[in-house]
Amino acid sequence: MAINFLYPDYEVVRNQDRCIGCRVCERQCANEVHSYNAELDKMLSDETKCVNCHRCVTLCPTHALKIVKNDHTFKENANWSGKTIQEIYKQANTGGVLLSSMGNPEPYPVYFDKLLLNASQVTNPPIDPLREPMETKVFLGAKPSRVQRDEKGELVNNLSPQIKLSVPIMFSAMSYGSISYNAHASLARAAQELGILYNTGEGGLHEDFVKYGANTIVQVASGRFGVHKGYLESGAAIEIKMGQGAKPGIGGHLPGAKIVGDVAKTRMVPVGSDAISPAPHHDIYSIEDLRQLVYSLKEATGYTKPVIVKIAAVHNISAIASGIARSGADIIAIDGFRGGTGAAPTRIRDNVGIPIELALASVDKRLRDEGIRNNVSIVVGGSIRSSADMVKAIALGADAVYIGTAALLALGCHLCRSCQTGKCNWGIATQRPELVKRLNPEIGYQRLVNLVTAWRHELMELMGGMGINSIESLRGNRLMLRGVGLTDRELEILGVKHAGE
Ligand code: SF4
Ligand code: SF4
Repeated sequence: MAINFLYPDYEVVRNQDRCIGCRVCERQCANEVHSYNAELDKMLSDETKCVNCHRCVTLCPTHALKIVKNDHTFKENANWSGKTIQEIYKQANTGGVLLSSMGNPEPYPVYFDKLLLNASQVTNPPIDPLREPMETKVFLGAKPSRVQRDEKGELVNNLSPQIKLSVPIMFSAMSYGSISYNAHASLARAAQELGILYNTGEGGLHEDFVKYGANTIVQVASGRFGVHKGYLESGAAIEIKMGQGAKPGIGGHLPGAKIVGDVAKTRMVPVGSDAISPAPHHDIYSIEDLRQLVYSLKEATGYTKPVIVKIAAVHNISAIASGIARSGADIIAIDGFRGGTGAAPTRIRDNVGIPIELALASVDKRLRDEGIRNNVSIVVGGSIRSSADMVKAIALGADAVYIGTAALLALGCHLCRSCQTGKCNWGIATQRPELVKRLNPEIGYQRLVNLVTAWRHELMELMGGMGINSIESLRGNRLMLRGVGLTDRELEILGVKHAGE
C-alpha cells in the first residue's frame, strides 16, 4: 500500500468533559470530519478532512471544540519549508496543478499598512460630520474636460452615462455558480438598500434578480456565459472582464459539478458541463479590438450604460490603462494581486500580478500626465479590508473601490480558502441545497448593509478629520498621505512623501 506522506494541517481539539454528544458538529460539517463511534460511545475526528472553516466551533452548544494548527514540524530548513515539502508531496500524489481559492495569503508588503493619513490641526480646522454636511456620493463615468454652452448661453449637457453611488463602494464581481443563490440575493438586496451596485460576475443574471437591475453591473467575460441583449439591458452598467487579480493571464473554470439547475440555465450551458472561460477574449488582440467590443455593447444598449473594463494589476498596467482610457470605456476597474477568487491555480494566485496600491498610483499619474484622467473613472479592488484602505485608495487616485472578500466575511465566510471544493459550510461558495440554506439572505443582506453603513460613518470621520467634506476633494489628494518604512523608489511610484516631510 502506498504511504500517504501528507499530515493534517489542523488538529481538532475536543474537550471531552464539555462534549455532550449532541452530534451537531457531525451534521454541520460537509467535509465529514466528525463522527460518532457507538462502540466507544464518543465523538471522533478525521483531521485529514478539516479545512478550519470554524462551522463546528461556532455551532457547538458547549464550546467543546477548537481547531489548532498542527504543530508537527519537518527538520528546520530555511529553504525547504514544511509548506513547500507538503505541496511537493501533493503534486507527486496527483500529478495535478495545485488549486486554491480566495486571495493571495503570502507575506508580500501591504502598502496600505505603510501609508498614514493626515489630520487637520489649528489652521485648517477639522469638520465634524455629525454637525456639518459631508458628501460621500460619487458619480462614475467619463466627465467632460470643459463646460460647454450653446449660442443662448445654456449649459450643453454632454455627460456620458454615469453610475451614481451613495458611497464609493461596490460589491465585486462574484458569479452565480461560484457563490450561491442566497449569497447573490443578499448582495443584490443590500446594493439596492445602500444605493450602490453589485456585480453578476461572469455567470449571467438569475431571472429572480432582474428586479435589482438599477443596482446591478452585468459582466461580459471571455466565455460570454449568459450574455444576451436582455441581460445587457437589465444592468445599470456593463463590465468587460479582461483580467482578474487572483489569476492574471488565465481564464476561469467552473467544474461541471457546480453547473446544476438554475446555474446551468443562467449561464446558458448544459447541466454538468464544465464552464471554461478562455484566457483571452478571442475577438480582442489590441486596443482597437477592445474599442469595438466597448462600442458594440454601447450600441446594443442605446448608449445608455457606462462600460467598465476590468483588468488585473500587472507589470505594465499604466500603459494598458492608458489604452483603455482611449478605447471609449467609461470606467477602468483594476484588480490587485490579493483579490479573491472561487478557484485559481495556487502558483498563479501567489506569484503573478502586482500590489493594487502601486498599480493604482501609477495609472492615476499616467492618465493625469497624458491629460486623459477625466476620460475615465478608476475603481480598484483586490483586498480592500477596511474604510481606511478605501480612504487611502481614493487619496491615491481611485474614484471608488470594489469589495469582495470583505463582503463575503460579512456574510459569514471564515476564510478557510476551500471555495474550490464546493462544500462551503457557511452556504456561500456552494450549490448544495442543504448548505445554501444555511445562509439566510434576510440576515445576509442586513449584515452587508451594516458593514457598508459602518464604513460610511468611518469614511466621514476620517475625511472630517482631514478637513475634507467631499470624495471629490479627497480623490488623488496625496498630500493627505505619508509613507513609513518605504524606500525612495516606492514613495516615488506612490507619489507620496515620507512621514516627517
Ligand atoms: S457539537 Fe460540540 S457538544 Fe456536540 S458532539 Fe460536537 S463537540 Fe460534542
Ligand atoms: S466562502 Fe466558504 S469555502 Fe470560501 S473561504 Fe469563505 S467559508 Fe471558506
